[in-house]
Formats: sequence, structure tokens, C-alpha cells
Amino acid sequence: MAAGGSIFNAMLQEFDGAARLLGLDPGIWKILTNPKRQIAVSCPVQMDNGEIEVFTGYRVQYNITLGPAKGGIRYHPDVTLDEVTALAAWMTWKCAVAHVPFGGGKGGVICDPTRMSRRELEALTRRYIAEIIDAIGPDKDVPAPDVNTNDQIMAWVMDTYSMHVGHTSTAVVTGKPIEMGGSLGRREATGRGVMIVTREAAKYVGFDIKGATVAVQGFGNVGSVSADLLAGIGAKIVAVTDWKGGVYNAAGLDIARMLDFAKGHKTIDGFPGGEPIDNEQLFTMDVDVLVPAALENQITLENAPAIRAKVVAEGANGPTTPEAHRHLHERGIFVIPDILANAGGVSTSYFEWVQNRHGYFWEEEEVNRRLEAKMCEAFRDVLDTSVRYRTDMRTAAYIVAINRVATVTRMRGMYA
Ligand code: NAD
Repeated sequence: MAAGGSIFNAMLQEFDGAARLLGLDPGIWKILTNPKRQIAVSCPVQMDNGEIEVFTGYRVQYNITLGPAKGGIRYHPDVTLDEVTALAAWMTWKCAVAHVPFGGGKGGVICDPTRMSRRELEALTRRYIAEIIDAIGPDKDVPAPDVNTNDQIMAWVMDTYSMHVGHTSTAVVTGKPIEMGGSLGRREATGRGVMIVTREAAKYVGFDIKGATVAVQGFGNVGSVSADLLAGIGAKIVAVTDWKGGVYNAAGLDIARMLDFAKGHKTIDGFPGGEPIDNEQLFTMDVDVLVPAALENQITLENAPAIRAKVVAEGANGPTTPEAHRHLHERGIFVIPDILANAGGVSTSYFEWVQNRHGYFWEEEEVNRRLEAKMCEAFRDVLDTSVRYRTDMRTAAYIVAINRVATVTRMRGMYA
């Protein structure tokens, strides 16, 4: 993905552009471009065949100036410390843009969960958490689900931590099952945030979201909820793709039926409500809004020149390469960057943590009302900054984030 193959270097490139425009003090610059803590642990697990495997796990607390570190735990064979550090840095900027009192963290374990039994996954999760137990906690570092981890794994994280401290601690992790302290509205939160910022972007760019045409890549948690909620405010979802295929219907796809179809078939490929299409067709479609909500590096210099959307709302993390982003910006396409567009997830994780700490749970409408306010505030802050600095929305989002973390770093002063 990045120069020299380092994802962390890619993060630094984005950081540097914004920090230069902001005129960031060189000392603060140094602090904000170095991870505060990087923990590496070995996790021995007795596998079902009786043999012992040792898995390497990481937890990075990139910056905790604004509050406890916040970020998911990823289980994947390709996890590296470089990747986990970059993801932890991005969480720092995302939390700051969303204006939630969290720093940025991320965890990863090198493993292939598709080849592990439920018992092995539980044993690995409990051992990994036991190995990093002193570093996490409601005031220290609050993990969440990420690639290949889910609410069941968060339940094991919560239980392991609680057993160690001797009491039930719900606020140590977010993305838990509702029954044990998860927040209503969390599952839909990222897609809801995408819907809100897309609606706000349409107002700014100057078209009516009612009747606007939308193409969505990915029909998982983020893509399907974004499509459903955008359709709910009157947009016409004309194209959707997933890992297997895609569907197009100029009159608008029936998203409720598509959700049912996807539940049964585990893909939208073959959905009877439209004609088949692939990703490349999706990207080049004459639509008002394009929502990449699948993977990183999907919009590249190869396909960016053919993109005709007025607004690109980055539901996924890192869907656009830096060169492609420059190209889109130069052509006047309004890109809502990932650290803003998909910040609804971490905002509602914050709400989950707040509810856990209060021991008082909100109705779903309350969660959604607060998310609406948070996303609108974040969108306005980034838009105002982009106008003030005459720059694109991504650089502006970084400026907002860096400025917030830098201001508090300066106020807190140097502990020596
Ligand atoms: P998911 O696993 O639920 O869904 C991913 C979707 O992408 C699936 O529909 C899959 O079929 C599709 N996909 C995979 N490969 C594809 C391909 N080559 N072409 C087209 N579609 C493809 O994941 P998710 O939770 O929806 O996350 C999607 C993105 O959003 C990721 O980048 C993730 O990091 C980011 N994100 C998610 C959240 C969240 O709360 N879930 C929050 C912030 C960011």
C-alpha cells in the first residue's frame, strides 16, 4: 500500500501534508509521529490435536493524550507491527476528528482464525488478553472488534479481564453483545454515520439526496447499513457489489429484499432484482454518490479517471490510494475521508463505554440522536477547516485531529 511497503510510512505522508499546512511545532511533530507504546507478546495455546502453538500478538497505544487508547483487535495471518502501529495512529486521528475523549490503539494477533476451532480461538483470546492485561482497562486502553474478531471474542476479552481484576468490568471493551453491556445502535453505527455525512455532503455540493443515485461497494456491516439508511432518506441505490459479484438496477434496488437475500446466500451475487455487474463497472457508473465500503486500495490511478460520482464517501478504511485521491480532488470530486466518514463506529463505541461506566443504558433513539449530533459536528469542523486552509477534506480532517491532540499535548506540558 505504501512507500517502501510500510503502511506506517503512508500514514506519515498524510500526517506530514497536514502538519505542514498547520505549521505544527517541530517538537510536537516528533511526539505525534512516534508511537507511545508497542507491546509484543507470545501466546502459547494448546491446540485441539494436543500440540502447542505459539502465536505472536501486538497491542499498540499510539497516543493517549486525549484519553484511554481505543481500537480494535485484528486476527489475521498477515498482521505486522508496522500495520498495527499505522492502524493505531489512524485511530488516534479518527477519535480526535470525532471529538471523543480517546487516544488511538490497535491490537493484532498473527493467526488464521478460519483454520481454528472455537475452543482454540477462545484459548488464544484469553491468553493474548492475559499477556497484555496490565496495559488494558477502562481508563487505559479499550479494545473492540476488527477484522476476524466479533462480539463473542469481545465477550471473552471482557470475561478474562474481569476474572483478573476480580469484578465484572464491562467498560474494558466495546462491541460486546447487547446482553452483557453492548450498546443499542452499535451494529448500525458506522453505516449510519456514512449516511449522515453523505447527506451533509450532498447539501454542500448542491444536490438533493432525495432521488440521488448511489453505488455501494461491499454489502457487509458498513455497506449494507449505509445502503439501507441512504435508501431510507430517499436516495436511489442503483448498484451494489460484494466479493462475489454485483447487481445494477437503474430504477433502484430493493435494499430490504437484498438484505434478506444476502442473509440466506452469504452474497448478493445472483440477486434477482437487477442485472449483474462487477466492481469496475460499479466504479465507473454515472451516479451522484459512490460508497467504497469493502477493502483498502480499491480506488487507484487505474480506475479513478473513470469515476463520475460527485461525492465519494469512504465507508472502508483506506479505500483510495493517495495518488488517486489527488486525482479525484483535482477533478472537483468531493471525497469524505475515512477518518471522518466511518467515525460513527468509534463514536458509538464511546457511547457504549459511557453507558457501561454509568451503569445506565440508553434507548436506541437516544444513541442515534447523539450520533447524529456528533457526525454533523465533525463534518462541519472538517468542512470549515477545508475552506479555511483551501485544502481537501482528507487533509482538513488531519488538520482538525492533529490540532486537537497538539493543543492538549502543549497544555499538558513535558513530564520529565
Ligand atoms: P464486512 O466483512 O462486514 O463486509 C465487507 C464487505 O466487503 C462484504 O460484503 C464483502 O463481500 C465485500 N468485499 C470483500 N472483498 C470484496 C471485493 N474484492 N470487491 C467487492 N466487495 C468485496 O466488513 P465491514 O465491517 O463492513 O468493514 C468494511 C470496511 O469498513 C473495512 O475497511 C473496515 O475496516 C471499515 N470499517 C468498519 C467499521 C465497522 O464498524 N464495521 C468501522 C470503521 C471502518
